[in-house]
Amino acid sequence: MMVRSYDEQELKQRFFDFEENYKIIMNNIGEAAVKSGRAPEEIQLLAATKTVPHELIRYATEHGIRLIGENKAQELIAKYPYYQLPKEQIHFIGHLQTNKVQSIIGKVGMIQSVDSLKLAAEISKRSVAQNLSTDILIEVNVGYEESKSGTSPEQLSNLIYQIAALPGISIQGLMTIPPISEDFDQTRKFFSNIYAMSVDIRDKNIDNVNMDILSMGMSGDYCQAILEGSNMVRIGSLLFGKRIYQSN
Ligand SMILES: *Cc1c(COP(=O)(O)O)cnc(C)c1O
Repeated sequence: MMVRSYDEQELKQRFFDFEENYKIIMNNIGEAAVKSGRAPEEIQLLAATKTVPHELIRYATEHGIRLIGENKAQELIAKYPYYQLPKEQIHFIGHLQTNKVQSIIGKVGMIQSVDSLKLAAEISKRSVAQNLSTDILIEVNVGYEESKSGTSPEQLSNLIYQIAALPGISIQGLMTIPPISEDFDQTRKFFSNIYAMSVDIRDKNIDNVNMDILSMGMSGDYCQAILEGSNMVRIGSLLFGKRIYQSN
């Protein structure tokens, strides 16, 4: 099991903490939005739910959360019957192997972590077979980190042109996870680079490509991300508490 179960007492505490955390985060999102010249509603909050038990996810979606994101196909499938959400509200945000694509197509409204033509081609093929179109974001490895997925900034434009030509798949924007840094100025620079790339691509007016979504910012840097143009922040630990990984 990847998801540890909680006893009743612990769940109650987590419910309570969630509500407090959610209020604070929404407030901070609103302030950062206004500072960046936008309305608070223009920023979407996605709850990153890896390792979070379905009872707590359910509580969160009944108390304000409208978007959730899972990282692992297997975990998504296991928790899927409990979400009670339309697929538009369920995103896939983790590294996706091509052999797992089939298991999630039609179950998620968006795959945020597409970083290769091979993966996009598989999503395209499986979507066409089900007679549907899958929305995706292109993940960019803005810090050129070997440990991270994502296409390099240099390859981004080419990759987008190639994917745009595929049927059954539709690019809606970019996603990124910048290098971990204590230095907020450095982090903001990464975010502003990605913002500039999204503007660049939008200006190319490529058929079948939207740049409506810029998914960047997590628990430690979501305010900086919004200040640099993010309109979707993915927050896990700050909403749900420290992740507890269960050993197999
Ligand atoms: C876990 C995760 C997050 C959330 O991370 P926190 O630091 O817990 O907010 C966001 N995006 C992705 C892709 C993740 O895997």
